[in-house]
This record gives sequence, structure tokens and C-alpha cells, in this order.
Amino acid sequence: MMPVKKIRIKTPIVEMDGDEMTRIMWGMVKEKLLLPYLDMKPEYYDLGLKHRDETDDKVTVDAAEAIKKHGVGVKCATITPNKERVREYNLKQEWKSPNGTIRAILDGTVFRAPILVKNILPSVKTWKKPIHIGRHAYGDVYRNAEIRVLGPGKGELVFTSKKGGEPVKLTIQEFEGPGILQGIHNIDESIQSFSKACFTYAYDMKLHLWFGTKDTISKTYDAQFRRIFDEEYKMNWEQKFKETGLEYSFTLIDDTVARIMRSEGGVLWACKNYDGDVMSDMLGSAYGSLAMMTSVLVSPNGFYEFEASHGTVQRHYYKYTKGEKTSTNSMALIFAWAGALKKRGEMDKTTDVVDFATNLEQAAVETVENGIMTADLIRVAEPSPNNRAVYTEEFIDAVSEQLKSLLWRG
Ligand code: NAP
Ligand code: MG
Repeated sequence: MMPVKKIRIKTPIVEMDGDEMTRIMWGMVKEKLLLPYLDMKPEYYDLGLKHRDETDDKVTVDAAEAIKKHGVGVKCATITPNKERVREYNLKQEWKSPNGTIRAILDGTVFRAPILVKNILPSVKTWKKPIHIGRHAYGDVYRNAEIRVLGPGKGELVFTSKKGGEPVKLTIQEFEGPGILQGIHNIDESIQSFSKACFTYAYDMKLHLWFGTKDTISKTYDAQFRRIFDEEYKMNWEQKFKETGLEYSFTLIDDTVARIMRSEGGVLWACKNYDGDVMSDMLGSAYGSLAMMTSVLVSPNGFYEFEASHGTVQRHYYKYTKGEKTSTNSMALIFAWAGALKKRGEMDKTTDVVDFATNLEQAAVETVENGIMTADLIRVAEPSPNNRAVYTEEFIDAVSEQLKSLLWRG
């Protein structure tokens, strides 16, 4: 038995299709878990690598602009081409990362959170609630300038003002032999928009906000991050946080890491670019699997883009194209869709859409908790006679059965 009437999605969701194994699963998720229940006309953009190449990557820009128009997008994983991919797909050029392009247009911050299920325990025993990570995605070492120093000489840091005057000059090192030299930067405006996004997300999700940098050593660079966060807190959040019982705390990054290890979770951990890159992978694996992490890009203007944290699962795709069965986990993709639907429902004030999204998440979680899971999870799940490793499509079918029974019960 199925509910007869489909739930209508009032405003379009921007749907961005992708590559390889995630593209295959994307189709299955839509066909088996969404279209039977939802009357939706997503605005579809094919970000598959071939189509990006055909459109000279214009499709990526169009998709980002569409998110600005409609407010909510959901994205499949996509290939960021390298030399090998240029050959494999016979590309016109090595196109930039679509995520980078979209992020630059929306000026957003990426937040990641694990999907928790009862039968997969995090490696850190005290973690009871999810730890969310907000990664500042601009500057630092990702936009550096580096020099390989081959012999004796002076390394300097120089700033030449557009207003004229003497350049500001600092000696970094008087080299007596070979070495290395690096220059990095950041921009107040970008740090401000990162801090706004973090406070907004933490408040929205009812999470404490923890932030740490190395400001004792880096008294100008890292200290500027701290100052901007403090200002944002004092100006816009202190009262709201206190009223809701939420805390904002800044500590030295070392202390933050130590506190995270002892905490029970339920916090948003704001990270500088490099810290976020490293720590989100640590959190992902500590919670069980890369395929159990969701990701959302939140723009300071209130646009949202949901996706899975993992890539296109290339190795599985090559098996798939050879006709072999794979056991690829679609949890993060399902949660990406559920996240987008929930946000769409909240914005449109359509509670039936929010309820459906909640049921979809619950169906996926219950399927795993009933012991039906893909190979990556079987390896880390609590042993049980009910545990059964299933193939990619079987898992989605099992979620579909669970969803039907939830909707029927509800
Ligand atoms: P990946 O797709 O994340 O996969 C790395 C490995 O992690 C897989 O080989 C698999 O391990 C495991 N894994 C990841 N997701 C899984 C899932 N859903 N179910 C089961 N196992 C999963 O990273 P990659 O292979 O390094 O990158 C492939 C492509 O993805 C690259 O072209 C890269 O550009 C792209 N990428 C895109 C995004 C994005 O669009 N957001 C992010 C990262 C990478 P086993 O092989 O051991 O089973
Ligand atoms: Mg990383």
C-alpha cells in the first residue's frame, strides 16, 4: 500500500547531477526514494564531466546562479579533472573544481556532519552527539606562493600599498644554505563572512560553537581570526546565545582538539582552512566511514547547497562498468537530498515536505540499524547475527521498503 497523493514541492530545488558511481546511485535514489512520493520539478543541471566540457563549464556557473535564484540546491559528487582525466574524457582543458566554482559564486562556508546510527560506535567513546565541522574555505596555504631557495640569500615579506609610500618590509630568514619559503594571506571580509556563517549555523542547529587558532604564536595572522570572531559574537550573537543556553568559546587550537576528544559532541567546531581539511577527514573516519558524512554549503545570503562529503567512488565505478556488482554506500547522497528537501520545506513553509524528508532520513538510518548495510559499514558495525552486507541497489531497495512502512504507519 502506498500513499496515493504525491507531496508537492512548491519552489524548485536546483539539482546538480554528477559523475561515476555517485551518478549511478543518484538515479536510483531519485527513481526509488523520491519520485514515487514527490511531485517535484527540480531545475536540472548536468554537471557530469562530459557536459561541463561541452558547455565550457558554463553549466556549473548557471547552476550556481540558479541556487541564488531558488535558494536551495543539491549536488552529486563530480570529478575534478587532472591530467589523467583530461586524457580519459578527451577534455578541452583541465576544468576547475565545480565545488570551488560554486563556492566562489555563493561565497559560502562548508559544514560537515556525521550521520549517526546506533550500531556504529564512534572510535571516541565519549562522542554521543554529532560533531559538526565548519571549514573556512579561503586562503592560507591553499593560495600560497612558495619558493625553493637554492642557496644563501635573504627571504623577505614585502607589502606595497596602492596609496604609495615606502613598502613595508620584514626579513623572514637570512638563508645560509638551501631551504624553502612560503607566503600566505587572508582577507578580513572572507573571515567575517565565515564567522557569520558559523554563528548562523550553530544557532540554527542549536550547537555550541568552538573555535581555535594558534594566536599565541601567530600574533597578527591567527589573532585576526580570533578578533573577527569575537567582534561578530559581541555584536550579533551574545544575547541570543545566552538566551538559548549556547556557548561560544575560543581557545588555542591545541586546547580545542583536546576538548573535542573529551567532549560528548553536539558542537560546531569552526576550523581554519587547513585545520578543517585535516580534521574533517579525522572525524569522518572516527565516525565510521566517509560515506556517513554529509556536507552543506551555507552562504551568508541564506543560500544552501547540500551534498555528500565523499567523491565519485571511482574504483567502484570501474567495477560497475565491467558489469561487476558493487556495494557502494548511498547514505550520504540520501541525506543530501533529505537535507535539501527539509530546507526547501522550511523556506516554503510546507510541513509535509519537511516530514517526508525526516521520514526518508529515518528510513535510511533504520535500515542500517536493522543490520542491512553496504560493505564499508559491515566492517565497522557492531557484530550482530542480523548484519547482512548488500549490494548498492539492494541497499536502496531496502531503504525504500523501510520508507514505505514508515509512510504507511505515519
Ligand atoms: P572517493 O570517491 O571519496 O573514494 C575514495 C574511497 O573511499 C573509495 O575508493 C572507497 O573505498 C571509499 N568510499 C568513498 N565513498 C564511498 C561510498 N559512498 N561507499 C563506499 N565506499 C566509499 O575519492 P576518490 O576515489 O579519491 O576520488 C574520486 C573522484 O571524486 C575524483 O575524480 C575527485 O575529483 C572526486 N571528488 C569529488 C568530490 C565532490 O564532488 N564533492 C569530493 C572528493 C573527490 P574502497 O575503494 O576501499 O571501497
Ligand atoms: Mg582532506
